[in-house]
Amino acid sequence: MTTAYLRAKREWTVLHRHPWIFSGAVERLDGDAGPGDVVRVADARGETLGYGAWSPHSQIRVRMLSFDPRRPADAAFVADAVAASVARRGAAAFAPHAGTRLVHGESDGLPGVVADCYDGWCVVQLASAGAEKFKDAIAAALVAAGAKGVYNRSDVDSRLHEGLAVEGAAATGPLAGGEPPELIEIHEGAVKCFVDVRRGHKTGFYLDQREARACVGALAAGRDCLNCFSYTGGFGLACAAGGAARVENVDLSAPALALAEKNFALTFPGGAPCETAFTCADVFKYLRLCRDRGRQFDMIVLDPPKFADTKGQLMRATRGYKDVNLLAMKLLKPGGVLATFSCSGAMTQDLFDKVCAEAAFDAKRDFQVIARTRQAADHPVALSFPEGFYLKGLVLRAT
Ligand code: SAH
Repeated sequence: MTTAYLRAKREWTVLHRHPWIFSGAVERLDGDAGPGDVVRVADARGETLGYGAWSPHSQIRVRMLSFDPRRPADAAFVADAVAASVARRGAAAFAPHAGTRLVHGESDGLPGVVADCYDGWCVVQLASAGAEKFKDAIAAALVAAGAKGVYNRSDVDSRLHEGLAVEGAAATGPLAGGEPPELIEIHEGAVKCFVDVRRGHKTGFYLDQREARACVGALAAGRDCLNCFSYTGGFGLACAAGGAARVENVDLSAPALALAEKNFALTFPGGAPCETAFTCADVFKYLRLCRDRGRQFDMIVLDPPKFADTKGQLMRATRGYKDVNLLAMKLLKPGGVLATFSCSGAMTQDLFDKVCAEAAFDAKRDFQVIARTRQAADHPVALSFPEGFYLKGLVLRAT
């Protein structure tokens, strides 16, 4: 087998079970390896450290699969890892109308692999050359674990760094079990949602905010709620189910809002228990409009898309987060609640706290932290892979 030899003293991260080996740590490749091929990883003296997938086009040159020198990674190894990951979620993941992340990439021992399950249908995102190489084994393992079918949603830009296609049949389409339904119904507490696995964002739904939605919903009773960056209504539905007086969902995407309306009708077939509004607008502009009109709210949710992909974009992202939080803070009535989130991995919890504190300072308002949220438990973070922590939330009360 082809061997990637690390430079002297660069085996430390692998020994600590970190899955990424950057190009600068690789001394040489002894043999040939194409994208996604498994290579033996050895320290400078030639001792086997484990086995990983080769990514010739990426700065992350090797993604470790097996840290066991006696177990080379092959299709059977990957299938076992998928089965173990699914087993950690428990049988409830395949219950009718459940929505669960079954595989969360590096933290589940499967670099570049995401698999979400909606009412038994699995949707995968394969972001690395190694993940792509084992596509068939992954799909087969999901079917063996109980999936009704497997659909590929690997239309992610990060694949460009890996030299992989991001469009067409190579990136999207059914992998097993035929075409999934147009809309798949999932339940989250009292809330029901349709998931569009073909056209939706990511794999179709933001399962990572499940616990945050429950937290916010439990605080919503009697409140006039503005749900910014609503996508298909998630937080707004939780607020309505939690007894909100009014819920307004704001998003730039008309199709997302159309599905949000459908989700309100699905959850509340007799009509929503509160006043509702669906506003297609840029949140930054809309918050300014509300300010100019003197409109106030007693709950605001800010769940923006990722503003920073890399540490290099962090400065600009920081301005974006501060700007939007400042605008929202000014619109809160005394006692009002702001639930604000950042899904940028590059934005640490500490920095996010500071950005919010600066926004509060500029808004001339005082806030108390009444809860913190993080990505749901089916999006675990391996202790050896802190990069896996990306989604953090602050629930603040204006005094
Ligand atoms: N809170 C949602 C997920 C939000 S994803 C849930 O729980 O399901 C982020 C959303 O922000 C996307 O729907 C995207 O269309 C929207 N978006 C991105 N930029 C925006 C902008 N400037 N103004 C309004 N919406 C925006």
